Amino acid sequence: MMSNVQKVKGFSRQHLANSLTNKKFQLILFPTEQCNFRCVYCYEDFEIGKMPNWLVEATKTLIRNKIPKLEFLSLSWFGGEPLLAKDILFDIAEYSLSLAEKYGCKLTGDLTTNGFLLDIKTLTRLVELKQNSFQISIDGDKESHDKTRLTRSGRGSFDKIWTRLLDAANTDLGFSITLRVHVTDLNHESVLKFCERYDQTLQKDNRFNLLFQAITNLGGDNQKVITDLTSKKSAVHLVKELTQRYTVKTGSINPDTNYICYAGKPNSIGIRANGNLNKCTVALNDDRNAVGKINPDGTLTLNNEKFSTWVKGFTTLDSWQMGCPLSYMNSNSVVGDIAVKKVS
Ligand code: SF4
Repeated sequence: MMSNVQKVKGFSRQHLANSLTNKKFQLILFPTEQCNFRCVYCYEDFEIGKMPNWLVEATKTLIRNKIPKLEFLSLSWFGGEPLLAKDILFDIAEYSLSLAEKYGCKLTGDLTTNGFLLDIKTLTRLVELKQNSFQISIDGDKESHDKTRLTRSGRGSFDKIWTRLLDAANTDLGFSITLRVHVTDLNHESVLKFCERYDQTLQKDNRFNLLFQAITNLGGDNQKVITDLTSKKSAVHLVKELTQRYTVKTGSINPDTNYICYAGKPNSIGIRANGNLNKCTVALNDDRNAVGKINPDGTLTLNNEKFSTWVKGFTTLDSWQMGCPLSYMNSNSVVGDIAVKKVS
């Protein structure tokens, strides 16, 4: 299908403008870095707990100071598991919504959650607060999912998550749930079984959609587990095939433009549960990603050199640098404008 999106070097002109304008702001928040799961391939170390009170207040002050000049504010909730700190999430989202209404700013919100705690009461409140877009990871059908996505007490999590999804489908709430299906070399059959289950239940509900993702090595201490799951590289082929199948089925249009990661956007910043500022949500312990901190008065202290390294793609329009600044940096090491020779 021909796309009539206006492009610059493969990027949508509109998407580039949205990433640069100071009328839009994306705040990525980590209300807690604790998790109720212990997925076997997880790269997080769970050393940081919930956002302390001063930080919740500082975040609200930052939003209060920014919002009068904004047309769009988007809150993206990460963790850990953000629903383990529902009180903080609701507090900041309620405050943001009241300000957004006052200043005529459009508020949106999305959560990257494991779905375990997404009961109807919580979902209803989140929808009221415009925090109604969710990404939930699934590792295939029950037998495969329950081997890798374990609760902290070591139990499988599939049944609970699936019940949450069916319960959500039985409401008339306005939300969108993307099920991010992780594909490894070892779970093809199970992924196909999950697709069948989905086809018979959620597929006709346009609030749900599937995103297939081959598991890759994201670092951390679990390299051996990841190598076992991905060494044959067959996952990538299945991901391609299923993406094609579900794109055709849902009639969704791939605008065929290059992806821009939020980490590379000047108008996006992440606030960790300890007040540190990050650009990327994966390289959490990487010093290049520690771009500053938020102060108790809601102001941000930024290391401009580090920050500019993440957003440099906007000067080169290099699709790799824009799509994943982290992997680009890992291969082309720079700090600010100075090339750094890697010493291993
Ligand atoms: S920089 Fe790369 S690893 Fe980090 S959030 Fe973006 S796409 Fe993910």
